[in-house]
Amino acid sequence: MNYVIIGGDAAGMSAAMQIVRRDKEARVTTLEMGGIYSYAQCGLPYYIGGLTPDSESLIARSRDTFEEEYGIDARVYHQVTEIDPDSKTVRGTNLKTDEPFELSYDKCLIATGAAPVMPPIEGKELDGIHTLKTIPDAERILEDMKANVLNVTIIGGGYIGLELAENLVEKKKKVRIIDHADRLGSGYDKEISAEIEKEAKRMGIEVCTGQTVERFSGDGRVSEVVTDQDSYRADMVVVAAGVTPNTGMIDRSRVHTLDNGAIIVNAYMETNMPDLYAAGDCATQYHRIKEKNDYQPLGTHANKQGRIAGMNMCGAAQAFQGIVGTSIMKFFDLTVGKTGLGEQEADEMNFTCDCDAFEGHSHAGYYPDNEPLLLKVVSHKVTGHFLGLQAVGRRGVDKRIDVAATALYHRMTMSDIENLDLSYAPPYNGVWDPLQQASRRVK
Ligand SMILES: Cc1cc2nc3c(=O)[nH]c(=O)nc-3n(C[C@H](O)[C@H](O)[C@H](O)COP(=O)(O)OP(=O)(O)OC[C@H]3O[C@@H](n4cnc5c(N)ncnc54)[C@H](O)[C@@H]3O)c2cc1C
Repeated sequence: MNYVIIGGDAAGMSAAMQIVRRDKEARVTTLEMGGIYSYAQCGLPYYIGGLTPDSESLIARSRDTFEEEYGIDARVYHQVTEIDPDSKTVRGTNLKTDEPFELSYDKCLIATGAAPVMPPIEGKELDGIHTLKTIPDAERILEDMKANVLNVTIIGGGYIGLELAENLVEKKKKVRIIDHADRLGSGYDKEISAEIEKEAKRMGIEVCTGQTVERFSGDGRVSEVVTDQDSYRADMVVVAAGVTPNTGMIDRSRVHTLDNGAIIVNAYMETNMPDLYAAGDCATQYHRIKEKNDYQPLGTHANKQGRIAGMNMCGAAQAFQGIVGTSIMKFFDLTVGKTGLGEQEADEMNFTCDCDAFEGHSHAGYYPDNEPLLLKVVSHKVTGHFLGLQAVGRRGVDKRIDVAATALYHRMTMSDIENLDLSYAPPYNGVWDPLQQASRRVK
């Protein structure tokens, strides 16, 4: 069987590994348009901040390992520009030689991820303006920072912008974040994002929300960012304004997609075209609480979906069980996490909800280093089902988010949560976990 995988990172190589392990006769060709295989994008902000000392440690398995140990034909600088599902052929360009190439497949996986959005802002081609997605992007930013860079403007206050801001502050840069939303971390409900903003200001970050960038200006290199309200000096700019699925190689009149271009897949990672699969940031994820396809481009989903795609491509019937919308980030001393629906999302879904924000504690109040924990819990007013948790604090956020994610996966009610047998000793919790306290507050 002849397998072709487009994209050589999380989803693509998770699939490739399943195929070579399960089908000993497999011929696997992976087509990667960049020069590096299987690396942790999630580590890039920490590489820029110096916590991760070199880019090598971000690479899970090298191209040589895939080729020599697993017999995968792992090509680099091969950009796919077209997939013909009728003749089962992929076509593209070798970016090193500029030569076209064509390959036929029995089964093909699209695992091309997502690209950073660069809004059509005047001056965006000036030197000193970056996006952050790949190791070469991070290296360009690090190289650029050697050039007398003090004032860095980040466009976008989502998790990539915030993680980057923290790491640039650690590097003694003066950081400003501009976002057109009315607050940082606007994917969170306002109670939670207010804490993010407080932390940003505490750490000396200039927060410019509710502003739209209209122009970058400078003589060859960016020196100013002009918004609809003001203009700001900038020695360097990083645009972290979201991502868009890399699906330009498919014919969208034939392959079904969401409006944003994410390829719609079923639980087996199949597209609507025979023997054509998709996984990771270029594909949809079924959301168990929303009960519909969603787009939440995260490494956790890409690895799972890629693995499941690989299994199904070589005959094992494995279903992706869907997501509940879990994510977490560190922002200086804070941990911020969410799972399920926030109040905003629950509103959009027309759920009739109880929403409760309250302050709990990381562990017993009388034990040292106890920290407040702000929780926002959403539950269904009629059925009593737990619908989501957002939490922010200096300690214990990760544990509550993961318990909540498990509860959501199993569609628990608030009363189920109240009855959970969770671990307790004073250094770790109160006798009632804050999530259980939340469940008792629901009338
Ligand atoms: C700075 C940063 C921090 C992140 N932090 C987290 C985190 O903390 N937690 C988390 O869960 N997720 C995080 N993510 C997201 C996570 O990295 C992605 O969800 C994950 O990498 C997606 O994997 P993927 O294989 O679907 O796509 P990608 O990793 O984007 O890989 C797709 C590959 O396809 C290649 N490609 C694209 N188009 C073509 C083409 N036409 N032809 C050939 N090759 C092509 C690309 O070069 C790329 O190598 C972060 C991302 C970034 C950028």
